[in-house]
Amino acid sequence: MRAQQCLTAVMLGLAAPFLLADHLPLGKGQPHVQPSQSVADTKLQPARIPYIDTHVHFDPKVVSDPSGQIDTALHAASNENAATLIFMPGPYISTDPASFDYEIFVTALKKHLGRLAFEAGGGSLNPMLQASIRAEDSGSGVQQKFKERAEQILSAGAIGFGEMSSEHLSLTSGQVYETAPPDHPLLLLLADIAAQHNVAIDLHLDVVPQTIPLPLGIASPPNPAKLQENLAAFERLLAHNPRAKILWAHAGQDGIGYRTPDLCRRLLQAHPNLYMEIKIDPLLLGKNPPLDASSKIQPEWLALFKDFPDRFVIGSDQHYGSARFTTGPQRWQSVILLLNQLPADLQREIASENARRIFHLPQDN
Ligand SMILES: [Zn+2]
Ligand SMILES: [Zn+2]
Repeated sequence: MRAQQCLTAVMLGLAAPFLLADHLPLGKGQPHVQPSQSVADTKLQPARIPYIDTHVHFDPKVVSDPSGQIDTALHAASNENAATLIFMPGPYISTDPASFDYEIFVTALKKHLGRLAFEAGGGSLNPMLQASIRAEDSGSGVQQKFKERAEQILSAGAIGFGEMSSEHLSLTSGQVYETAPPDHPLLLLLADIAAQHNVAIDLHLDVVPQTIPLPLGIASPPNPAKLQENLAAFERLLAHNPRAKILWAHAGQDGIGYRTPDLCRRLLQAHPNLYMEIKIDPLLLGKNPPLDASSKIQPEWLALFKDFPDRFVIGSDQHYGSARFTTGPQRWQSVILLLNQLPADLQREIASENARRIFHLPQDN
């Protein structure tokens, strides 16, 4: 870690994530790569062409000031050359007092449709999923309530369901560990609802191809001592309803080490309804990052994008309005550094054409 980045991390209160990432020992992919000076450079460069960010969040302050948070995001989007930002609530559990869903921001957001859009369910469907697991009840009553909420979300104008969570490690202080089988009856039901309405599901899944002890350096609790295999169940979800579009969040941000270009390739080949959102966290590059230490795109990732040009979108996981994301290295910037290096045709597809097709967004915004 270079001194400047270390200083930046400390200033941002992020020394702990660095240490966690530095000590991840497991995984079949490449060794952990330190954030490079250029990835973490605070001199921000906009995208060369307008792009759609399919995965962004509000700061919890949105609960008291939705219009202010939206103005902040719109201002930032202009500087980034982002044509459209797709907001969604994070994958909350029901006991989280900070939990919110679309009701908080929908009125303010709808004044800017075109530049903004939203998915929902992270603050309601995801807590229902977690509650169903805790109660060991996924019977017809629970399913009916879940379906009603999903349909209410779409009636309100959401263009998908997100952020849903299956395996979600706690890698930073205060983050909650969440787990749910990817083929849980409520997720299979959501796939059917998504297929019926031709919308996408945005899913966070830290993939684990075989049960392993928790990698060193990842705290337990809140994470469990063992990570259960979840890949087979993820493939059952993908195969359950081939008309359900599943956007697998965070390609390129791998805290465990198994989300390699090879695994992504095999799954994209096997499941035509699988799409991936590219994310690069300059403060937590993790394993298998798509950019090398000088911010150049890694050849195996470039080959993957070229072989599946219609299956990737930008999904930076930027949190607009939060103090952590006000200064210093930005997630949107890292993924735009990647986008700006792509050949022109591929750049257009990943920047916006794929997202417009997946989410049925108009061409002219
Ligand atoms: Zn996520
Ligand atoms: Zn997210």
